[in-house]
Amino acid sequence: MTICHCTWCQRRTGTAFGTEVVFEIGQVALTGDSVGTYRHHSDESGRWLDVAFCRVCGGNLGFTLEAAPGLRTLPAGAFDDPAWVDAESIQIRHVFVRSRRSWSDLSPLVEQYERHFRTS
Ligand SMILES: [Zn+2]
Repeated sequence: MTICHCTWCQRRTGTAFGTEVVFEIGQVALTGDSVGTYRHHSDESGRWLDVAFCRVCGGNLGFTLEAAPGLRTLPAGAFDDPAWVDAESIQIRHVFVRSRRSWSDLSPLVEQYERHFRTS
């Protein structure tokens, strides 16, 4: 799971960070007429992210990224039973902590990257 503290994730979630569980794209199927998408371009890299959302309730359905072909994220809090997402069984990485909000404290024991672990 990636916990992203970038300013775009702060804006899109309306809080301090986005929590995205990362899957191989073939492990996830988003189906039905209610799935919408929005293409965001990074201010910094110019690369795209295709954000999926529910047209009925507006809920976040994760995204795919130009920077990570073959992967899809789903938001950690969106599962019917989010209890399976826990620190004991899933690797958790905090990324873009350079833009972390001062009121969002992190344990020094968690894995942290100033940018993304793919680029830092
Ligand atoms: Zn982000």
